[in-house]
Amino acid sequence: MKPVDRHLADILAAVRPLTPFEVELEAALGAVLAEDVASPVPLPPFDNSAMDGYAVRAGDVAAAPVTLPVIGDVAAGDGRLLAIGPGLVTRIMTGAPLPAGADAVVPVEWTDGGTVHVRIDRPAALGNAIRRAGEDVNAGDVVLREGTRIGAAQLGILAGVGRRRVRVRPRPRVVVLSTGAELAEPGTPLGPGRIWESNSFMLAAAVREAGGEGFRAGAVTDDPKEFLDMLEAQLLRADAVITSGGVSMGAYEPVKEALGPLGTVAFEKVAMQPGMPQGFGTVGPDSVPIFTLPGNPVSSFVSFVLFVKPALRKMQGLPAGPQATVRATTAASLRSPSGRRSYLRAVLDGGTVAPVRGQGSHQLAALAAANALIVVPEDVTELPEGAEVEVISL
Ligand code: AMP
Ligand code: MG
Repeated sequence: MKPVDRHLADILAAVRPLTPFEVELEAALGAVLAEDVASPVPLPPFDNSAMDGYAVRAGDVAAAPVTLPVIGDVAAGDGRLLAIGPGLVTRIMTGAPLPAGADAVVPVEWTDGGTVHVRIDRPAALGNAIRRAGEDVNAGDVVLREGTRIGAAQLGILAGVGRRRVRVRPRPRVVVLSTGAELAEPGTPLGPGRIWESNSFMLAAAVREAGGEGFRAGAVTDDPKEFLDMLEAQLLRADAVITSGGVSMGAYEPVKEALGPLGTVAFEKVAMQPGMPQGFGTVGPDSVPIFTLPGNPVSSFVSFVLFVKPALRKMQGLPAGPQATVRATTAASLRSPSGRRSYLRAVLDGGTVAPVRGQGSHQLAALAAANALIVVPEDVTELPEGAEVEVISL
């Protein structure tokens, strides 16, 4: 059997970062920056007031309480070149440019709020309530680096440095295609021998959680021709394809039967549990990467975490490798087959991890109750309660 690490290495060697392109800011959420972004101006661009109050010379209010004449108002957006002389003040609003000559702002709360004369009750230190030009960003500073995922705050600073468009790697578009004659669409009645189709919902959601765009192509039966037709129709919009089911050792394995003869997809046994039958390769004229995952829901989920998630990171231009693990103490004894790396569904709570009841690869409810996978190495078959284990946090 092929080691898990080698299977991942083969996949990562084959997938390429998506080609960057420019998008409008509104379309950039969730994408990964493909350029360093610098600010063309200092931020703030000019000295301005942090509060509503009065622009003063600190020396004039050192002996407060004092009463001083108010020579005008400066509002946010005021573009005039203003100055105050000794002994004079202006009213000033938050974000308004500081008049020349002023070196402190007295908050309105420290005054009687006067508009012709103002009584100032407290002295203000030099620079009080002033936001200096460039104290957030200097002109030319890089505010975001290539490889940064664009969230709400990152969109904020992109706009804040005046960008309208930005170069990104797009969110990979991933089509999820389920196979199985037994599958019924959720919301429709279950006939005899049928189960509700769950993998395409789960995997499309996992793609979204991993930064891609997941599309459900829906389910096809176990007819290889039907599978190939569906695949061909879906390839147009796909940067990658995930299939579930139809890759094991039985009869009626449409994915294997349809893709095997192409020779571009390798079907292999990977030394892991759950999820031994795996396939990876490329399809179509554009050599779109395809992950053919086993159909058991827990197997397909674990396979996604181990193999597809890192591949999606690479496609987005992010550092990609094996899932990070943390160390924890197991709250129960563990068993694992010899020669295969186990990923036991578990609940991680602080430094303790407890396997959930129901470790079968069909036991989706148990997976839904878990928040972690305990990794048991290939050469370990038993671990006592209290043993140190590696854990993938989900
Ligand atoms: P297969 O890999 O096609 O042999 O399927 C293995 C097991 O997973 C069978 O019990 C299937 O019924 C089940 N299964 C396959 N595909 C799905 C799916 N999309 N949703 C839920 N269960 C599935
Ligand atoms: Mg099947």
